[in-house]
Amino acid sequence: MKSFLEFLRERVNTKDWNLWFGTLRFDGVDEERKIVHLVVGNLFVREWIVRKYGRVIKRAVENYYGHGYDFVVDFENLGEDERKPGPLVRKKPLILSTLNPNFTFENFIVGEENRLIYSASLEVAENPGIYNPFIITGGVGLGKTHLMQAIGRRMMENNPDVKVLYITSETFMNEMIEALKDESMHRFREKLRKKLDVLLLDDVQFLMDKRWLQNELFHTINELMNMGKQIVICSDRNVKELRGFHERLISRFQMGLNLSIKPPSYETRRRIVMKFAGDHSVVLTNEMVDYIAKNITGNVRRLKGAILRLCVSQETDGTLNFQKMVDLISDLLDPLPRCGADVDLITKISRVLKVDPNLLTSGSRKRELNLLRMIGIYFCVRNLNIPVNEVAQLFKRSRTSILYTLNKVESMKNDFEVRSILSKLEEDFTGEIGGFAG
Ligand code: ADP
Ligand code: MG
Repeated sequence: MKSFLEFLRERVNTKDWNLWFGTLRFDGVDEERKIVHLVVGNLFVREWIVRKYGRVIKRAVENYYGHGYDFVVDFENLGEDERKPGPLVRKKPLILSTLNPNFTFENFIVGEENRLIYSASLEVAENPGIYNPFIITGGVGLGKTHLMQAIGRRMMENNPDVKVLYITSETFMNEMIEALKDESMHRFREKLRKKLDVLLLDDVQFLMDKRWLQNELFHTINELMNMGKQIVICSDRNVKELRGFHERLISRFQMGLNLSIKPPSYETRRRIVMKFAGDHSVVLTNEMVDYIAKNITGNVRRLKGAILRLCVSQETDGTLNFQKMVDLISDLLDPLPRCGADVDLITKISRVLKVDPNLLTSGSRKRELNLLRMIGIYFCVRNLNIPVNEVAQLFKRSRTSILYTLNKVESMKNDFEVRSILSKLEEDFTGEIGGFAG
């Protein structure tokens, strides 16, 4: 009878099997608990196998052993990998390119959504040449360059002799143009192909539609890969979306490991905000951290920019409060969410009124706050036609209190301040809701 691993192998494509399952061992079945034990010698490989092949393995286990059986992949340190003793005298690494000193693995906040790409990057740094080329794709400001440089830095720490070249695609182009101009292509080629061990090529989407550059890149990549040199490439487009890229370059890219970096989750954003703020000695309350993490979602660079701005202000003015923070960073926030069933209305209203959402629904009786709250309630019922009961829930108030508020605001409608706050809400909500009664 076929062994379980043979059985599994038939259900995995050959390329993936060779790349990922090579070190997988079978480690027996716990019949009592109906669990099949598998072992790998590498944390990242375990992560990858479970994520990408978890369902396939589960199905194979059930088909092979019977219904109700499950599996676990254990990690076993095979020993050789115990932190190698470093050289007694540390040589200074040969610096071919300047790397941002902040872009390290230690400074990268790892959340559930980016754990895989983080551990893959670590793996590439610790064991270069296996996942080659390693391609990181994903939106702007999500940490691609950070991870790429962290790989380069870690490699230099591990081996001071390793020659790491970080280059953006734009610099690649400029240097090539220069080389063509003063007929020094041989030197350009030597620098890129002969004199380095690791090539970190950033923003490769820049080479879209530039065939002459792609040609040069293709030969560079080929030569480096033939020598077993590690290549890391970043792109803010998916490999398939690299318009006007040579087929052969694309297929080179697809030979390696290609992972995309995901926007940080709310939890990760909170941790990033707290870390940046800590790094820059900015003191933020819980509500402030919350507000920033909720309203700057898709770009870590912007998140960081917001904290830096608060840092400058705190240094010049001393104190920072919620209102001041909102004023300082309002242009960095995401565009207001569209009004739909899943929109957090309180978040949106507090954004427009520039007030802490927690205070908006709190019991605080401060005059200014109370006024904003009453107008917010009025707006929800009268303009957005939200049922009174729902509004009561949203604002954490009784139905009676909502009805009282409606009358009260009605009687104040000619007041200049009230009118201007109301029209601010109307302005920001109009066009997104379409045809509500004004
Ligand atoms: P990209 O190259 O994808 O456009 P960067 O690598 O330049 O983005 O990242 C933008 C900024 O956000 C950098 O300052 C980087 O350090 C920071 N950053 C992104 N993701 C994280 C993260 N998960 N943890 C810490 N910092 C991050
Ligand atoms: Mg970048």
